[in-house]
Amino acid sequence: MDADTPISQLPGIGKYYFYKLKGLEIKTVEDLIYHLPFRYDDFAKIEKIQSVTPGQKLSIVGIVWQITNIRARSGKFITRATVADESGTIEVIWFNQPFLTKNIKAGMQISLAGKADLQGSRVILVSPTYEILRRRLGTPGGESNIHPGGALVHTARLVPVYPETEGITSRWLRAKIASVLPEYLRSQKDFIPYEILEKQKFIKLDKALHDIHFPNNFDEVEKATKRLSFDELFLIQLTTILRKQDWQKKRKAPAMKLDKEKISQFVESLPFKLTAAQKKAARQILFDLKKTTPQNRLLEGDVGSGKTVVAAIAAYVAYLNGFDTLLAAPTEILAFQHHQTLTEILSSWAVKIGIWTGSKKSAGNITCGTHALLSTFKQQRPIGLVIVDEQHRFGVAQRAKLFLRHNLRLTPHLLTMTATPIPRTLALTLYGDLDLSILDEMPQGRQKIATFVVPNLKRNNAYKFIEKQVFEGRQAFIITPFIEPSETMITVKAAKVEFGKLKDKFSKNISLGLLHGRLKSKEKEEIISKFRKNKIHILVTTPVVEVGIDIPNATVMMIESAERFGLAQLHQLRGRVGRGKHKSYCLLFTDSRSPGSYKRLKSMEKIYVGAELAEIDLKMRGPGEIFGLKQSGFINLKIANLSDHQMIARAQEEAKRIIEIDPILKSFPILKQKISKLSSAFAQPN
Ligand code: ADP
Ligand code: MG
Repeated sequence: MDADTPISQLPGIGKYYFYKLKGLEIKTVEDLIYHLPFRYDDFAKIEKIQSVTPGQKLSIVGIVWQITNIRARSGKFITRATVADESGTIEVIWFNQPFLTKNIKAGMQISLAGKADLQGSRVILVSPTYEILRRRLGTPGGESNIHPGGALVHTARLVPVYPETEGITSRWLRAKIASVLPEYLRSQKDFIPYEILEKQKFIKLDKALHDIHFPNNFDEVEKATKRLSFDELFLIQLTTILRKQDWQKKRKAPAMKLDKEKISQFVESLPFKLTAAQKKAARQILFDLKKTTPQNRLLEGDVGSGKTVVAAIAAYVAYLNGFDTLLAAPTEILAFQHHQTLTEILSSWAVKIGIWTGSKKSAGNITCGTHALLSTFKQQRPIGLVIVDEQHRFGVAQRAKLFLRHNLRLTPHLLTMTATPIPRTLALTLYGDLDLSILDEMPQGRQKIATFVVPNLKRNNAYKFIEKQVFEGRQAFIITPFIEPSETMITVKAAKVEFGKLKDKFSKNISLGLLHGRLKSKEKEEIISKFRKNKIHILVTTPVVEVGIDIPNATVMMIESAERFGLAQLHQLRGRVGRGKHKSYCLLFTDSRSPGSYKRLKSMEKIYVGAELAEIDLKMRGPGEIFGLKQSGFINLKIANLSDHQMIARAQEEAKRIIEIDPILKSFPILKQKISKLSSAFAQPN
């Protein structure tokens, strides 16, 4: 058995468990070993039965005197047992687990872990975890008998608790992991060079993996966590550095010329003046285009900071050099919008703007599109630049494909854009192979969008307010979380019912439209287009509008169940209004009564900087939630904490150093092997 042994080859794992484990993303022995506990129940204290007090979390060790199933009046099974040690006896009950009497028999010595409770005046143990120590009545056990080789996994220790799924309990996982761990650890060599371990004072890999699952105390958990977090961050850093090297060495991009005069003519033709941040970013991007090393840059900027026009400048330069550009957007709506924006600003310069989606296909000098660009686009001229908007929505593999597909002789320059306010350190960790440009300045005259967390009592006032805005010629969004990308027909039905109710709230003269992910793209387009033309006054929609759509006449953004969103996400939604000259508003509704969640939402009233809101969420909810990284498929951190800047810095430093010493890891074969395995998992091209 080694790391890559399929999980199905382990004893006791048939089809049922195979599929269940797959749901937990466990396919190999290594996946199982790296399925890490998210907390530990402290059942380390072994209490004498006589001294057990109610409410206490503890373990006891004793002999089973008797055990039986009884049927309660409700028809449910209750298993009752009496367990004794030399200090006394205690009653133990379990609910709905009649099979327990098959495993636990009178005469056995068992260890039980759980919480003591009071039944009448008697102290009992309710639904404890059990572990059988000896099958037959033996001599009353002293400590040494209880811990044969430290083999207890479920009781009398810090008990690991794992992410579970239906049919796979922590108990099951614990037992499986305990049974394969020793052999797995014997098959593994530590891939972190000894000098690093020494210098950073990290424990060895085998000890870390053992201790993270079966620690003796919390100090061991901490040391193991440190070591494994370092591993994770270090491997990511190293992979990205190597990928960057590779990218720069092996690939050649078209070196473009910058026709300063034409570029400034174009910039001056824009209906506004570029911000200093836009100028700086454009300069960085154009500078990259001059080189034969393909650009690989992330353009990060808050909603409304004006990324599109920066991208348009780069695309125009590509056009002037005789190269085509692809602009990939995560949704069809956005692709259409980009198409329109680019047409407005570029068509008078003889640039042909194309659109390439599931339903519409016409290629141009700059072709905006969706995933369809990956699968069906046929290039006519050489592609010099690929722009990916809202890149966290695209998996890395897809990004890779996007530029590989069109790679005949030259690799296009790659520019990715995101509104996700990822702090710089974090960005460098996640996207270490990218260069970074940040738009940290908003175009002048942007208004503050008045934001209110509205109590449910005032809901009707809110509808009145929206109505008034509409009568003044404005428009509104109402965001409901009822339909998500993977929605079923049942929820669509619920959404329609909800939509019907909403319609009744407004005057008959007001037209409402419903937009959700389940609509056909033609229908979506129609609704958006009607909304754009103010034929729909209120757009009721799922968060599909979150990314990018630009309707300057919309002045109200009302969000239902706001607590379900991350603050950065709410901020992005809010950024959909306040784009024109009219005063705009964001109304947040919540059903949650939790004070924490209310306080979190209240910060939307005071804070208008995406990065600051993200920082709050980072503290309150952890990084996965905020940055949408969970869905990204980009990175899936098991243990490292992305807010641990210090650990990130250590990993970065060591990764850089090792590459300096040995750029191809020649003298670190185990590390090299580990990295190449990881890289292929990232599905990156070489
Ligand atoms: P995002 O960064 O969210 O993609 P967009 O590129 O959609 O932002 O720009 C948002 C709006 O701001 C657009 O209507 C765009 O025309 C406008 N805009 C962009 N740059 C400027 C600027 N420098 N001054 C004024 N308005 C600008
Ligand atoms: Mg945008």
